Amino acid sequence: MTEITRREFLKLGAAGTAGMALVPLANPLGFDLAAAKKRALTSRIDGAKEVHSVCPYCAVGCGLIAYTKVSGTTTQLLQIEGDPDSPINEGRLCPKGATAMQLATSSRRVLKPLYRAPGGTAWEEKSWDFMLDKIAQNLKTSRDNTFVAQDANGNIVNRTEGVAFAGGAAFSSEEGYFAAKVMRSLGVVFIEQQARV
Ligand code: SF4
Repeated sequence: MTEITRREFLKLGAAGTAGMALVPLANPLGFDLAAAKKRALTSRIDGAKEVHSVCPYCAVGCGLIAYTKVSGTTTQLLQIEGDPDSPINEGRLCPKGATAMQLATSSRRVLKPLYRAPGGTAWEEKSWDFMLDKIAQNLKTSRDNTFVAQDANGNIVNRTEGVAFAGGAAFSSEEGYFAAKVMRSLGVVFIEQQARV
């Protein structure tokens, strides 16, 4: 067997490394660079409509940009990202907001109202009319059953302690104002906001 000295071994190693380094300079990964460059210039949001919106998850109210494209009779949501022009988040989103697109595109998204009757074990699809009537009936029943006109000291309080209301973080100021007015007019005193939960 041929003996290789330490010096010869190092020379061979250096020559091999130089040879390997020359190949990437010519064509880094052996790809067709012209095709790759052409592809890099094509963005999937090219020509998409840019719609400015607000993250629905919390009261920080980070600005979003949604990119949509009309395809036939449907509008396709292509991308949601932070709005760099928003003074609140300057283009950034927290991990929760960064998943906002899944609100619209997740296969697990509930698309119709689901109702589970008292004591029931299964969810049933119902219409919005059914659900709104059911909420109104339950609200009235709970209010009637728990309405307190006077407290223990004889003070007129006109409140219900059997109903609570939690506003959504995506409420605008006007919606929040309206919701608080409606709830207070019903005598609801337990009023919260999702942003504080
Ligand atoms: S959930 Fe995150 S991204 Fe959305 S508004 Fe709140 S902080 Fe911003």
